[in-house]
Amino acid sequence: MNEVQLEVAKAYPNDSGRGIARLDPDTLLHLKLSPGDIIEIEGSDTTAAKVWRADRQDWNTDTVRIDGFTRQNADVGIGERVTIRKAEAEKADKLVLAPPEEASVQFGSDAAGMVKRQILKRPVVERDIVPVMSSTNHPFMRSPGQAIPLIAVETEPEGVCLITEDTEVELREEPISGFEKTGGGITYEDIGGLQNEIQRVREMVELPMKHPQIFKKLGIEPPQGVLLHGPPGTGKTLLAKAVANETSASFFSIAGPEIISKYYGESEQQLREIFEDASEESPAIIFIDELDSIAPKREDVTGEVERRVVAQLLTMMDGLESRGQVIVIAATNRVDSVDPALRRPGRFDREIEIGVPDEVGREEILQIHTRGMPLSDDVTLSKLATDTHGFVGADIESLTKEAAMKALRRYLPEIDLDEEDIPPSLIDRMIIKREDFKGALNE
Ligand code: ADP
Repeated sequence: MNEVQLEVAKAYPNDSGRGIARLDPDTLLHLKLSPGDIIEIEGSDTTAAKVWRADRQDWNTDTVRIDGFTRQNADVGIGERVTIRKAEAEKADKLVLAPPEEASVQFGSDAAGMVKRQILKRPVVERDIVPVMSSTNHPFMRSPGQAIPLIAVETEPEGVCLITEDTEVELREEPISGFEKTGGGITYEDIGGLQNEIQRVREMVELPMKHPQIFKKLGIEPPQGVLLHGPPGTGKTLLAKAVANETSASFFSIAGPEIISKYYGESEQQLREIFEDASEESPAIIFIDELDSIAPKREDVTGEVERRVVAQLLTMMDGLESRGQVIVIAATNRVDSVDPALRRPGRFDREIEIGVPDEVGREEILQIHTRGMPLSDDVTLSKLATDTHGFVGADIESLTKEAAMKALRRYLPEIDLDEEDIPPSLIDRMIIKREDFKGALNE
């Protein structure tokens, strides 16, 4: 059969949640595909996607770009290989979608119609995650991108199905249990810029978690602790969450200042419990935010609690047995004020600086945070990237939210707050304009 093996790369920021796979012209030719055709993607699991042509920079790289949902559907990670072939997609007569286990969702009266319009002409395979954009606030929303992951619990017929106008789409509010995929969580598509930094974290964390035998064979110790340092709001937490999610590792989070307790022994006890839980549920990532607040240089230490917490942390890190299977990622804004004892070999001996994004990075971050937003044609993200010199990711996120609020204020006079439903025609008309961003920038 006509098929190729390609390496998985992350999706372009604008492609996320759209069920698209990007292939280069050679591959398209080889598989006799045209843009818009449907392909099967086989990793540990099999899914389908619609083909688009890759940008020139990706030509002849033997890669396929797919987003985090499609990667979960095919059960592959970035850098792994998948088999690609043209799919025989049949028109779907019926598709039943339900939220994953831990989610609770309430669908409005026209939700099924809205969902269908979003996924029209897309392929779906039973057991796939189907990300759906929500126009309203939703408790299960992933932070950026605003997609709600639903699971295709049933399709008729089975196999690769194409959603058409005639497909009957049914939404169930009852969450489906026993599905491993949840679609939740941060993926590398949610991080703008930081390309080299992501690559380094992947080498230090993903590699030893996924392939411990490589380290064994070469006789090198996988890192135990990685220190991310840089200004606040640049994506350190985001990066740690993405690595955990993409490696399917359990994620444990410790907020530095919160673990310092005034009750004798309580902080140490908490630390111990977290490390024990992580070892039990390995592979695991323990993320310690604001490391400098619990482990400042000893000469700076004023409190007895901090001293004991540092000692405990050192003990726990030195005691980690499952090398490479539990990795501690810590973040700090002030690398110089971290206790040097923690930066010795076997502890936080790898450091990655997470800096303020440059213009290209800012544009990517803008793309990510406006992903689900209806932008007017007069909004040029590249221009906005130029105008936001000095902004970090968190600033850009606030800017996009503020612009959306400005747009909302323009429509408020048309909204009757006593009415339960807002007319769909009004929702359809709502857009965010350049003036909204301008207004938000000037505040
Ligand atoms: P840090 O841990 O470095 O202080 P966070 O990762 O908590 O920063 O960032 C806060 C929020 O800002 C994130 O949830 C995200 O919405 C946004 N953000 C920060 N950096 C980036 C980035 N590089 N790309 C996309 N969003 C970002």
